[in-house]
Amino acid sequence: MSVKENIRSTLETLPAGVRLVAVSKTHPTEAIAEAYEAGQRMFGENRPQEMVAKHGLLPKDIEWHMIGHLQTNKVKGIAPFVSMIQSVDSERLLNVINSEAVKNGRTIDILLEIRIAREDTKSGWDINGLRTLLDNGLGRQMPGVVFRGVMGIATNTDDIRLVRDEFRLLKSIHETLRDKYFDSRFDTVSMGMSGDWPIAVECGSNMVRIGSAIFGERNYAKSL
Ligand SMILES: *Cc1c(COP(=O)(O)O)cnc(C)c1O
Repeated sequence: MSVKENIRSTLETLPAGVRLVAVSKTHPTEAIAEAYEAGQRMFGENRPQEMVAKHGLLPKDIEWHMIGHLQTNKVKGIAPFVSMIQSVDSERLLNVINSEAVKNGRTIDILLEIRIAREDTKSGWDINGLRTLLDNGLGRQMPGVVFRGVMGIATNTDDIRLVRDEFRLLKSIHETLRDKYFDSRFDTVSMGMSGDWPIAVECGSNMVRIGSAIFGERNYAKSL
């Protein structure tokens, strides 16, 4: 199957209202251009330099989503054009995104990455720590940041019940945070990857991040 066919069949399978972020990290611009020709506009990258390079080479109506851990000193490079930063996991990072957005005269949509997996290798906010910060006013003085929702990565396991529990948890965290701290713009639940997105959608995801099922296996050695 070609990238184009993979995009088309994925879009056909996704229920209405679930948006697709095609995760193009490590894949060449030619593969992204092929997905673009099939109508895909949202792409996910996890390295700022790679995103900047691809942004420079590809059509300007592409929406670039940062999905990987982001160091504060790398925000500057993507701030002029990035569409959404999904991997926001610290107050320091939020502050830098806010100031870089303001410097560029724009706002940047962000998702709060929540730690839902049992494995402690996964990044993201601890929900209790995050709620304490929000109670203390986190985010209230950030004109450059639009809080759009939550993102999470489930445990990488064949145990479907565990994955389902983690996705349900993220869905309920989204509702709690939206009702207590945010407004109707806080509408996005980004969960589900190539191996688990049908479960995520069943649990209320409205944004899936799919890489290898569209572009094939990643070859890190050959990455841009
Ligand atoms: C790489 C990555 C994906 C896509 O993973 P696949 O298994 O290739 O679909 C999704 N989300 C995040 C945060 C990633 O880093």
